[in-house]
Amino acid sequence: MEKSVRHYSIPVFVPHEGCPNTCLFCNQRKISGKARFDPDSVREEIDTCLSTIPSGSDVQIAFFGGSFTAIERELMLYLLGISDGYVERGLVDSVRLSTRPDAVGEEILDILSCHHVKDVELGIQSTDDTVLLKNARGHNAETAISAMKRVVDHGFRLTGQMMTGMYSASAESEIQTARTIVECGAVSTRIYPTVVFRDTGLEALCESGEFKPLSLEESVERTLAVYRVFKEAGVKVLRIGLCSTDGVRGEDSVSVYDEAMGERVLSRDKRDELEKRLSEIPFEKGDTVLISVPSREISVSVGFQRENKLYLENKYGIRLKIKGV
Ligand code: SF4
Repeated sequence: MEKSVRHYSIPVFVPHEGCPNTCLFCNQRKISGKARFDPDSVREEIDTCLSTIPSGSDVQIAFFGGSFTAIERELMLYLLGISDGYVERGLVDSVRLSTRPDAVGEEILDILSCHHVKDVELGIQSTDDTVLLKNARGHNAETAISAMKRVVDHGFRLTGQMMTGMYSASAESEIQTARTIVECGAVSTRIYPTVVFRDTGLEALCESGEFKPLSLEESVERTLAVYRVFKEAGVKVLRIGLCSTDGVRGEDSVSVYDEAMGERVLSRDKRDELEKRLSEIPFEKGDTVLISVPSREISVSVGFQRENKLYLENKYGIRLKIKGV
Protein backbone atom coordinates (compact mmCIF):
# COMPACT_ATOMS: atom_id res chain seq x y z
CA MET A 1 0.00 0.00 0.00
CA GLU A 2 1.28 3.45 -0.91
CA LYS A 3 2.20 5.57 2.10
CA SER A 4 0.65 9.03 2.08
CA VAL A 5 3.05 11.95 2.35
CA ARG A 6 2.27 14.35 5.18
CA HIS A 7 1.88 17.99 4.33
CA TYR A 8 3.44 20.72 6.47
CA SER A 9 3.08 24.44 6.15
CA ILE A 10 5.68 26.90 7.45
CA PRO A 11 3.77 30.12 8.11
CA VAL A 12 5.55 33.42 7.66
CA PHE A 13 3.35 36.30 8.79
CA VAL A 14 3.71 39.51 6.83
CA PRO A 15 1.35 41.75 8.78
CA HIS A 16 -0.45 44.57 7.00
CA GLU A 17 2.64 45.26 4.95
CA GLY A 18 1.60 47.22 1.91
CA CYS A 19 -2.09 46.89 2.49
CA PRO A 20 -3.64 50.19 1.44
CA ASN A 21 -6.93 49.36 3.14
CA THR A 22 -8.47 49.40 6.53
CA CYS A 23 -11.29 46.93 6.12
CA LEU A 24 -14.01 47.44 8.66
CA PHE A 25 -13.31 44.19 10.49
CA CYS A 26 -9.54 44.06 10.23
CA ASN A 27 -6.81 45.01 12.55
CA GLN A 28 -4.08 42.98 10.92
CA ARG A 29 -1.54 43.86 13.56
CA LYS A 30 -3.80 42.18 16.09
CA ILE A 31 -4.44 39.20 13.82
CA SER A 32 -0.76 38.65 13.18
CA GLY A 33 0.06 39.25 16.83
CA LYS A 34 3.00 41.40 15.81
CA ALA A 35 3.34 45.15 15.66
CA ARG A 36 6.35 45.11 13.36
CA PHE A 37 7.66 42.78 10.72
CA ASP A 38 11.35 41.98 10.60
CA PRO A 39 12.39 40.52 7.21
CA ASP A 40 15.78 39.57 8.64
CA SER A 41 14.17 37.08 11.03
CA VAL A 42 12.37 35.14 8.27
CA ARG A 43 15.19 32.66 7.58
CA GLU A 44 15.49 31.90 11.30
CA GLU A 45 11.70 31.36 11.59
CA ILE A 46 11.78 28.99 8.63
CA ASP A 47 14.81 27.09 9.94
CA THR A 48 13.17 26.66 13.35
CA CYS A 49 10.04 25.22 11.78
CA LEU A 50 11.96 23.03 9.35
CA SER A 51 13.91 21.43 12.18
CA THR A 52 10.64 19.98 13.53
CA ILE A 53 9.40 18.54 10.21
CA PRO A 54 10.14 14.88 9.37
CA SER A 55 12.13 14.39 6.19
CA GLY A 56 10.16 13.13 3.22
CA SER A 57 7.22 15.42 4.02
CA ASP A 58 5.57 17.76 1.55
CA VAL A 59 6.58 21.20 2.83
CA GLN A 60 5.30 24.63 1.84
CA ILE A 61 6.41 28.07 2.93
CA ALA A 62 3.23 30.09 3.39
CA PHE A 63 3.30 33.88 3.34
CA PHE A 64 0.22 34.77 5.32
CA GLY A 65 -1.16 37.63 7.29
CA GLY A 66 -1.36 40.57 4.94
CA SER A 67 -1.62 41.21 1.23
CA PHE A 68 1.57 39.62 0.07
CA THR A 69 1.48 40.78 -3.55
CA ALA A 70 0.69 44.36 -2.49
CA ILE A 71 3.75 44.81 -0.31
CA GLU A 72 6.64 46.91 -1.50
CA ARG A 73 7.98 45.15 -4.61
CA GLU A 74 11.54 45.00 -3.32
CA LEU A 75 10.42 43.30 -0.10
CA MET A 76 8.16 40.86 -1.93
CA LEU A 77 11.02 39.80 -4.20
CA TYR A 78 13.36 39.57 -1.22
CA LEU A 79 10.97 37.19 0.55
CA LEU A 80 10.40 35.16 -2.61
CA GLY A 81 14.17 35.00 -3.00
CA ILE A 82 14.39 33.47 0.47
CA SER A 83 11.75 30.84 -0.31
CA ASP A 84 13.42 30.15 -3.69
CA GLY A 85 16.58 29.23 -1.82
CA TYR A 86 14.78 26.64 0.31
CA VAL A 87 12.99 25.12 -2.68
CA GLU A 88 16.14 25.00 -4.78
CA ARG A 89 18.05 23.25 -1.97
CA GLY A 90 15.27 20.65 -1.81
CA LEU A 91 14.27 21.60 1.74
CA VAL A 92 10.84 22.91 0.76
CA ASP A 93 8.55 21.83 -2.07
CA SER A 94 6.58 24.94 -2.91
CA VAL A 95 5.23 28.29 -1.76
CA ARG A 96 1.73 29.53 -0.97
CA LEU A 97 0.60 33.03 -0.18
CA SER A 98 -2.48 34.97 0.65
CA THR A 99 -3.43 38.30 -0.82
CA ARG A 100 -6.20 40.60 -1.93
CA PRO A 101 -8.18 40.09 -5.13
CA ASP A 102 -7.16 43.53 -6.41
CA ALA A 103 -3.47 42.73 -6.09
CA VAL A 104 -3.14 39.83 -8.52
CA GLY A 105 -2.79 41.39 -11.95
CA GLU A 106 -1.16 39.57 -14.89
CA GLU A 107 2.29 40.97 -14.14
CA ILE A 108 2.24 39.85 -10.50
CA LEU A 109 1.03 36.38 -11.44
CA ASP A 110 3.83 36.08 -14.01
CA ILE A 111 6.32 36.94 -11.26
CA LEU A 112 4.82 34.35 -8.88
CA SER A 113 5.05 31.70 -11.60
CA CYS A 114 8.83 32.13 -11.58
CA HIS A 115 9.14 31.67 -7.81
CA HIS A 116 7.78 28.20 -7.03
CA VAL A 117 4.38 29.52 -5.95
CA LYS A 118 1.76 26.77 -6.27
CA ASP A 119 -1.11 28.03 -4.13
CA VAL A 120 -2.67 31.47 -4.12
CA GLU A 121 -5.21 32.28 -1.43
CA LEU A 122 -7.51 35.21 -2.11
CA GLY A 123 -9.39 36.98 0.65
CA ILE A 124 -12.71 37.16 -1.17
CA GLN A 125 -14.84 37.53 1.99
CA SER A 126 -17.99 38.28 -0.03
CA THR A 127 -19.09 38.61 -3.63
CA ASP A 128 -21.96 40.91 -2.73
CA ASP A 129 -21.20 44.47 -3.82
CA THR A 130 -23.14 46.02 -0.95
CA VAL A 131 -21.29 43.92 1.62
CA LEU A 132 -17.93 44.73 0.05
CA LEU A 133 -18.73 48.44 0.01
CA LYS A 134 -20.06 48.60 3.56
CA ASN A 135 -17.05 46.71 4.86
CA ALA A 136 -14.66 49.09 3.07
CA ARG A 137 -12.97 46.33 1.12
CA GLY A 138 -11.91 48.78 -1.57
CA HIS A 139 -12.99 46.65 -4.55
CA ASN A 140 -16.17 45.21 -5.97
CA ALA A 141 -17.37 41.69 -6.73
CA GLU A 142 -16.33 41.89 -10.37
CA THR A 143 -12.73 42.47 -9.28
CA ALA A 144 -12.89 39.47 -6.94
CA ILE A 145 -14.38 37.18 -9.58
CA SER A 146 -11.95 38.14 -12.33
CA ALA A 147 -9.05 37.75 -9.89
CA MET A 148 -10.11 34.20 -9.00
CA LYS A 149 -10.40 33.26 -12.68
CA ARG A 150 -7.05 34.82 -13.50
CA VAL A 151 -5.32 32.91 -10.71
CA VAL A 152 -6.78 29.62 -11.95
CA ASP A 153 -5.99 30.46 -15.61
CA HIS A 154 -2.35 31.01 -14.61
CA GLY A 155 -2.21 27.44 -13.31
CA PHE A 156 -2.18 28.19 -9.59
CA ARG A 157 -4.30 26.27 -7.12
CA LEU A 158 -6.87 28.74 -5.82
CA THR A 159 -8.04 28.94 -2.22
CA GLY A 160 -10.99 31.29 -1.85
CA GLN A 161 -11.34 32.62 1.66
CA MET A 162 -14.71 33.94 2.75
CA MET A 163 -16.41 35.29 5.85
CA THR A 164 -19.76 34.75 7.47
CA GLY A 165 -21.63 37.22 9.63
CA MET A 166 -20.11 40.33 8.04
CA TYR A 167 -21.74 43.70 8.48
CA SER A 168 -24.80 43.85 6.17
CA ALA A 169 -24.35 40.26 4.91
CA SER A 170 -27.26 37.80 4.85
CA ALA A 171 -27.35 34.02 4.85
CA GLU A 172 -28.31 34.20 1.16
CA SER A 173 -25.41 36.47 0.21
CA GLU A 174 -23.01 34.11 1.99
CA ILE A 175 -24.31 31.05 0.17
CA GLN A 176 -24.02 32.93 -3.12
CA THR A 177 -20.43 33.88 -2.26
CA ALA A 178 -19.57 30.24 -1.60
CA ARG A 179 -21.18 29.20 -4.90
CA THR A 180 -19.25 31.86 -6.80
CA ILE A 181 -15.96 30.73 -5.25
CA VAL A 182 -16.78 27.17 -6.33
CA GLU A 183 -17.71 28.28 -9.85
CA CYS A 184 -14.46 30.21 -10.20
CA GLY A 185 -12.49 26.99 -9.74
CA ALA A 186 -11.25 27.08 -6.12
CA VAL A 187 -9.82 23.78 -4.92
CA SER A 188 -10.01 24.80 -1.29
CA THR A 189 -11.42 27.39 1.04
CA ARG A 190 -11.14 28.86 4.50
CA ILE A 191 -14.30 30.09 6.17
CA TYR A 192 -13.99 32.80 8.77
CA PRO A 193 -16.98 33.72 10.93
CA THR A 194 -16.68 37.43 11.70
CA VAL A 195 -14.92 38.30 14.92
CA VAL A 196 -15.13 41.89 16.16
CA PHE A 197 -11.65 43.05 17.14
CA ARG A 198 -10.74 46.06 19.18
CA ASP A 199 -9.62 49.17 17.33
CA THR A 200 -11.60 48.37 14.19
CA GLY A 201 -14.41 50.17 12.41
CA LEU A 202 -16.61 47.21 13.23
CA GLU A 203 -16.07 47.72 16.93
CA ALA A 204 -17.27 51.33 16.53
CA LEU A 205 -20.39 50.10 14.70
CA CYS A 206 -21.05 47.64 17.52
CA GLU A 207 -20.76 50.41 20.08
CA SER A 208 -23.17 52.63 18.16
CA GLY A 209 -25.63 49.74 17.85
CA GLU A 210 -25.41 49.78 14.03
CA PHE A 211 -24.00 46.24 13.95
CA LYS A 212 -25.00 43.31 16.10
CA PRO A 213 -22.65 40.35 15.83
CA LEU A 214 -24.21 36.93 15.30
CA SER A 215 -24.73 34.80 18.37
CA LEU A 216 -22.67 31.63 18.59
CA GLU A 217 -25.67 29.56 17.48
CA GLU A 218 -26.42 31.84 14.52
CA SER A 219 -22.79 31.81 13.53
CA VAL A 220 -22.65 28.00 13.57
CA GLU A 221 -25.79 27.78 11.40
CA ARG A 222 -24.65 30.39 8.87
CA THR A 223 -21.18 28.88 8.63
CA LEU A 224 -22.62 25.38 8.27
CA ALA A 225 -24.70 26.53 5.30
CA VAL A 226 -21.65 27.68 3.35
CA TYR A 227 -19.59 24.71 4.54
CA ARG A 228 -22.16 22.47 2.85
CA VAL A 229 -21.89 24.35 -0.44
CA PHE A 230 -18.16 23.63 -0.49
CA LYS A 231 -18.52 20.07 0.76
CA GLU A 232 -21.05 19.19 -1.92
CA ALA A 233 -18.81 20.70 -4.60
CA GLY A 234 -15.77 18.73 -3.40
CA VAL A 235 -13.90 21.91 -2.40
CA LYS A 236 -11.61 21.17 0.53
CA VAL A 237 -12.33 23.20 3.65
CA LEU A 238 -8.88 23.93 5.06
CA ARG A 239 -10.07 25.87 8.08
CA ILE A 240 -13.19 27.14 9.77
CA GLY A 241 -12.60 30.08 12.09
CA LEU A 242 -9.57 31.95 13.30
CA CYS A 243 -7.44 30.32 15.94
CA SER A 244 -4.37 31.01 18.02
CA THR A 245 -2.04 29.78 15.27
CA ASP A 246 -3.28 32.79 13.28
CA GLY A 247 -1.81 34.87 16.08
CA VAL A 248 -5.27 35.77 17.34
CA ARG A 249 -5.81 36.36 21.02
CA GLY A 250 -9.25 36.03 22.52
CA GLU A 251 -8.73 39.14 24.62
CA ASP A 252 -8.42 41.26 21.46
CA SER A 253 -11.97 40.45 20.43
CA VAL A 254 -15.17 42.02 21.65
CA SER A 255 -17.55 39.45 20.16
CA VAL A 256 -17.87 35.68 20.12
CA TYR A 257 -14.42 34.29 19.47
CA ASP A 258 -14.51 30.57 19.61
CA GLU A 259 -11.49 28.47 18.74
CA ALA A 260 -13.76 25.43 18.50
CA MET A 261 -15.90 26.93 15.72
CA GLY A 262 -14.65 24.37 13.21
CA GLU A 263 -15.47 21.48 15.52
CA ARG A 264 -18.89 22.94 16.24
CA VAL A 265 -19.74 23.30 12.56
CA LEU A 266 -18.51 19.84 11.60
CA SER A 267 -20.36 18.22 14.48
CA ARG A 268 -23.57 20.12 13.61
CA ASP A 269 -23.26 18.85 10.06
CA LYS A 270 -22.94 15.32 11.42
CA ARG A 271 -25.89 15.79 13.77
CA ASP A 272 -28.21 16.45 10.86
CA GLU A 273 -26.91 13.34 9.11
CA LEU A 274 -27.50 11.21 12.24
CA GLU A 275 -30.98 12.63 12.64
CA LYS A 276 -31.79 11.66 9.07
CA ARG A 277 -30.55 8.13 9.76
CA LEU A 278 -32.67 7.99 12.91
CA SER A 279 -35.74 8.88 10.87
CA GLU A 280 -35.14 5.69 8.86
CA ILE A 281 -34.89 3.40 11.92
CA PRO A 282 -38.02 2.14 13.72
CA PHE A 283 -37.75 2.87 17.47
CA GLU A 284 -39.89 3.89 20.41
CA LYS A 285 -39.36 6.29 23.25
CA GLY A 286 -37.15 4.70 25.92
CA ASP A 287 -35.35 2.45 23.41
CA THR A 288 -31.60 2.20 23.15
CA VAL A 289 -30.71 2.93 19.54
CA LEU A 290 -27.37 1.88 18.10
CA ILE A 291 -25.87 3.78 15.18
CA SER A 292 -22.63 2.67 13.54
CA VAL A 293 -20.25 5.20 12.04
CA PRO A 294 -16.71 4.89 10.67
CA SER A 295 -14.33 4.83 13.67
CA ARG A 296 -12.64 8.08 12.61
CA GLU A 297 -16.03 9.82 12.79
CA ILE A 298 -16.97 8.81 16.34
CA SER A 299 -15.85 12.06 17.90
CA VAL A 300 -17.58 14.33 15.37
CA SER A 301 -20.70 12.12 15.55
CA VAL A 302 -20.94 12.29 19.35
CA GLY A 303 -20.50 15.99 18.79
CA PHE A 304 -18.62 18.88 20.31
CA GLN A 305 -18.96 18.43 24.10
CA ARG A 306 -21.29 15.46 23.34
CA GLU A 307 -23.90 17.87 22.06
CA ASN A 308 -25.17 15.66 19.21
CA LYS A 309 -25.75 12.69 21.48
CA LEU A 310 -27.49 14.80 24.12
CA TYR A 311 -29.58 16.68 21.56
CA LEU A 312 -30.84 13.53 19.85
CA GLU A 313 -31.44 11.67 23.12
CA ASN A 314 -33.48 14.56 24.50
CA LYS A 315 -35.40 15.19 21.31
CA TYR A 316 -36.41 11.56 20.74
CA GLY A 317 -36.43 10.26 24.32
CA ILE A 318 -33.98 7.49 23.51
CA ARG A 319 -30.59 6.29 24.67
CA LEU A 320 -28.21 6.67 21.75
CA LYS A 321 -25.15 4.51 21.30
CA ILE A 322 -22.69 5.53 18.62
CA LYS A 323 -20.34 2.73 17.66
CA GLY A 324 -17.27 2.89 15.45
CA VAL A 325 -16.80 0.26 12.77
S1 SF4 B 1 -7.16 43.93 2.82
FE1 SF4 B 1 -6.73 42.29 4.27
S2 SF4 B 1 -4.97 43.04 5.46
FE2 SF4 B 1 -5.82 44.81 4.39
S3 SF4 B 1 -7.20 45.75 5.87
FE3 SF4 B 1 -8.42 44.36 4.58
S4 SF4 B 1 -8.46 42.38 5.65
FE4 SF4 B 1 -6.82 43.65 6.56
